[in-house]
Amino acid sequence: MNRLLAVTCALLSIQAFAQDANPALVEQARALSDERSQASFVRQCTVEPARFPGLGEGVAATPAKLFDNLYYVGRTDVGAWVIKTSDGLALIDTLYTPEDAANIIMPGLQQLGLDPAQLKVVFATHFHGDHAGGVPFFRDRGVRIMLSEADWGPLGGAPNADSIARDGQVIMLGDTPITIVLTPGHTPGAISLIFPVTENGVTHKAVIMELSPRGGADVHKQAVEGIAHLGEFIASESVDVALHPHEMIFDPVARDFIMSASSRTQGSENPLVIGNEAAGRFAAMVGKCWEARIATMEAAAK
Ligand SMILES: [Zn+2]
Repeated sequence: MNRLLAVTCALLSIQAFAQDANPALVEQARALSDERSQASFVRQCTVEPARFPGLGEGVAATPAKLFDNLYYVGRTDVGAWVIKTSDGLALIDTLYTPEDAANIIMPGLQQLGLDPAQLKVVFATHFHGDHAGGVPFFRDRGVRIMLSEADWGPLGGAPNADSIARDGQVIMLGDTPITIVLTPGHTPGAISLIFPVTENGVTHKAVIMELSPRGGADVHKQAVEGIAHLGEFIASESVDVALHPHEMIFDPVARDFIMSASSRTQGSENPLVIGNEAAGRFAAMVGKCWEARIATMEAAAK
């Protein structure tokens, strides 16, 4: 908690909180926040948050099983997840480079007892290098790669129609449906992904949310629509696990769990399950923060 307070204070002291133009919106966001989402509340309600300390300076995390069918093969500063299905593996995000794919993701799979030859589909949440940098490694091996059409653009275009991730599309891999939701804002075609995870015989629904809008009021308006759209899926799909590609920024509790999950005691509580109410409230909170940012941006532009 001390570290969180220190981060909060540091952010407050050096950056504009978005409450100048419309304090009511920030108060509405604050009312939707809780202890667990404080770091996200402060950051998303700050108009132009500074680059997060340590981003881009991570190392390989210890590969870990997070649920019976969800594994982490990422770095300490950016995630890569594997969903195990009855018909092979799906990878979400690919780290910085083909070398990361070869030296972190592939050995991670083997360490976790997963066969890299079973990799059937790779999703990149967006085109930025820390998420799509490893794409060429998998493309060269003939694995289906999926990004939104808008985000394929900066990578030279989609190789074929099967590679285009569309809003509302459900990819069935064996017994596992993976739902794609377009959540533009961070990039024009950023996607979030929803899929079932199981533990102790109980099925939960997880979302990996690509958030953090970059740009002016217009981009933020798209992001507000996108998170509201995702909120509808969180409600209708009863999502109760909320994950983020840069977990250190969004949820320090989840981040600490993921980084130590390899040594978790069997049967201990899984803090990644936050419940459907908290997941929906989180999405509503960041949407309110972005509305507050828009108010501040538009006031400054007058
Ligand atoms: Zn990015």
